[in-house]
Amino acid sequence: MKIAITWDYELFFGEHSGSAQKCMLEPGNRLLEIAKKNEAKFTFFVDAGMLVKGQNQPAFKTELVDIQNQISKWDQQGHETGLHIHPHWEDAIWDNGWKFDLKRYKLADFDDSEVEQIFDNYIMALQKWSKEKIVSYRAGGWCIQPFSKLKSSFSKHQLNIESSIFQGGKNVTSPYYYDFKNAPQKEKWYFENHECEELENGSFLEIPIASKTYSPLFFWKLFVLGRLSPKNHKSIGNGSPAKGGGSKKDFLTKFNHLCVSADGYFVTEIERAVREAEKKGWNSIVIIGHPKACTLFSLNYLDKLIAKLSKKHQFVCLKDLAK
Ligand SMILES: [Zn+2]
Repeated sequence: MKIAITWDYELFFGEHSGSAQKCMLEPGNRLLEIAKKNEAKFTFFVDAGMLVKGQNQPAFKTELVDIQNQISKWDQQGHETGLHIHPHWEDAIWDNGWKFDLKRYKLADFDDSEVEQIFDNYIMALQKWSKEKIVSYRAGGWCIQPFSKLKSSFSKHQLNIESSIFQGGKNVTSPYYYDFKNAPQKEKWYFENHECEELENGSFLEIPIASKTYSPLFFWKLFVLGRLSPKNHKSIGNGSPAKGGGSKKDFLTKFNHLCVSADGYFVTEIERAVREAEKKGWNSIVIIGHPKACTLFSLNYLDKLIAKLSKKHQFVCLKDLAK
């Protein structure tokens, strides 16, 4: 089976953005070491708004150069660079760190000409650092809907691969809005105007992120480990997440349908998800992760997991799943 681990490469969007050093560069370097050692390929979905806004912010200059160098580095090593858009960068200001206003969190909050401009600017700022043509897209906060607003930009920039959906996912708590309850239960599918409607001759290929239902017990373990051993289980990223992603109480008391992820303790569920996909007869699986959410534990675990699974499976770029 082909396994694509895809990293959303970004700062935090809550009260504290965190530093590029801790949220991206440091965990990013560890991931590139792990990939090299195990001959694995990764995909990095770069939050391109950060590159655009960062250009005009002298205080962010040093970090920006380091980020650009890291993108070039993984590009040279054969990893994939994908476009990740968080359009709330349009409203970001610098005040001893980035301050975000999430009133316009998703592209659906912008009018059509603004959406087009955002795609043009963001992809240009990112493509500069990648020799390979960018073909893959992931929406910030999974907010790909309605796709009709993005379609002309996808065509214009030949973004042929979409990977924001996770089957069964739904979050309509502000600032998020997505509902994937009607997504096809397939490994991948072509579509044209609606991301959840398969169309055989569609222009775009949806390769969804794997998902699963997590029990409250999983989150109890996660929280207890974080308390017992913060050194190993605390995120390397030093910012705070945006609100709206679910409350601690909900996680500890309810079943939650979420992505299969390489973030922190979630990494322990990947192997089971790979087996489940195999059982369904699928040839590939997409896993999401965030360098900012890596922990010492998750990086060590991932290193061993890739070494183990590589005996039977291949760790490839997302675009390799389109073949
Ligand atoms: Zn993101």
